[in-house]
Amino acid sequence: MNTVIVGAGLAGLAAAHELNKAREKFLLFEKTDSVGGKLKTIQKEINSQNYSLDLGFQVIPSAYPSLQEIISPDSFTKLNPCYFDSGAILLRDGKSYSIGDPFQDASSLFDTLWNTLLNPLLSLEDKIRTLILRQELGKYSLQDILGGKPWQEQSALAFLQERRFSDLFLNNFAKPFFGGVFGDNSLGIRASNFAFTLKAFSQGKVFIPAAGIQRLPELIAESLPKESIKLQTTATSIKAEENGKKLKVFLGSDKYVLVDAVILAVEPETLIEILGLTDLTETIKELIEDLRSENSFRVKYHNLYFTSSISLNIGKKIFLNCNPGALINNGVQISEIQKSRHNREEGQEHLISVTVLNSKVQSKNLPQTCIDELETLFPQAKGQIKFLESFEIKEKNSLFQQNSANYERIGKLREAIMAKLPPNVFLAGEFMSENCSQEMSIQSGLQAARKILGK
Ligand SMILES: Cc1cc2nc3c(=O)[nH]c(=O)nc-3n(C[C@H](O)[C@H](O)[C@H](O)COP(=O)(O)OP(=O)(O)OC[C@H]3O[C@@H](n4cnc5c(N)ncnc54)[C@H](O)[C@@H]3O)c2cc1C
Repeated sequence: MNTVIVGAGLAGLAAAHELNKAREKFLLFEKTDSVGGKLKTIQKEINSQNYSLDLGFQVIPSAYPSLQEIISPDSFTKLNPCYFDSGAILLRDGKSYSIGDPFQDASSLFDTLWNTLLNPLLSLEDKIRTLILRQELGKYSLQDILGGKPWQEQSALAFLQERRFSDLFLNNFAKPFFGGVFGDNSLGIRASNFAFTLKAFSQGKVFIPAAGIQRLPELIAESLPKESIKLQTTATSIKAEENGKKLKVFLGSDKYVLVDAVILAVEPETLIEILGLTDLTETIKELIEDLRSENSFRVKYHNLYFTSSISLNIGKKIFLNCNPGALINNGVQISEIQKSRHNREEGQEHLISVTVLNSKVQSKNLPQTCIDELETLFPQAKGQIKFLESFEIKEKNSLFQQNSANYERIGKLREAIMAKLPPNVFLAGEFMSENCSQEMSIQSGLQAARKILGK
């Protein structure tokens, strides 16, 4: 079979990887000039120092099962993984509290037991409940949890409240921590997404490649035949030919390729355009309009970078800002983690990455407002923090602000599109799942390719 895959994000690359493994012919079309989609790193040189800046704070949990399917242990080292320390630094009222992760390492409980007694931000009962939850999650595999079992309909907040976690735990740990992961700090995400992430984070280690997050898709692409990847190639439409036995994939108005199957691994807006779905119901049209415009579907997500000549002294842990009404949700001294990349020598600047969710501050004022807040959180760095770069991550949109209202709407949209698919056209990408993650994108790509392979 000849296949065209549209979109070289993780989903499209995973599909290509699977077809390549089966020695099937394929072409992978990507409209931009690089592979990776939402996994994007840019290089910036300032005062003769090179920085690799990821567009959005994004980490890779080594326990992701599908990731392990496409990155062999040998290739894994080529990612040059830089690991985070588990746990977090909680910051509140001018004080800082380091917590370990009893999910990751039960012995850290004894470490943190003492800390907990001194830590007014978490209760001892929460620690014990965390251990009980660890046991509960231990009964299920990551796949079981992703499959929706056993907490399909519940929100993460309801799930934690049902297990009697205190408001201290919810406000000082769960909301800022999972807010940073899901772009939504209300814990409105599905309990199954929350449980999946919690388990994936604690089963393995969390890392970023030394060269930045985009190294992951680049490594997958390196295992594919070079000539099969066509960058700066935009698929515009598909037309069924020969009674649906063949498909024409158009690249603009008159150029096309004729193939047996197509995998579309693109955002829903693009899917609709490529498939020419004009006869959709009014409700679905409204949903699409919603997707296209700046409205409740959208997550406001900013990722800002700063340099500082003084270390924040948080090691390789993420910090969570637990102050009520705070602007910065979470952050990390990224140069401490990607040490080999940033190769900081004495006197060189530290690199800090912070995430801001749903900011009401005007974009132009955001950097200085963040500096003011960072200086309050880390008084030792006062006067030393300089703004480097700010990214407004619109693509976080595709995470559809993971709350229950949007799940239902997106589900309807997915069903409407699936019902109109021509034969031999398959869908992949985060849009196919309620869990928008690297894992689900890879899994959906593998599944689409396996359908073509008849597996
Ligand atoms: C800020 C942020 C932080 C995140 N953090 C994490 C995290 O820590 N851990 C985690 O697991 N997940 C995280 N995610 C989610 C994860 O990154 C995404 O779910 C995943 O990368 C999506 O991959 P995809 O292949 O489905 O889609 P995409 O990455 O969107 O890929 C789609 C590709 O299709 C291309 N394309 C579009 N239209 C066309 C066309 N007409 N022709 C050709 N090509 C086309 C696009 O250019 C793009 O390259 C995060 C996402 C964001 C935005």
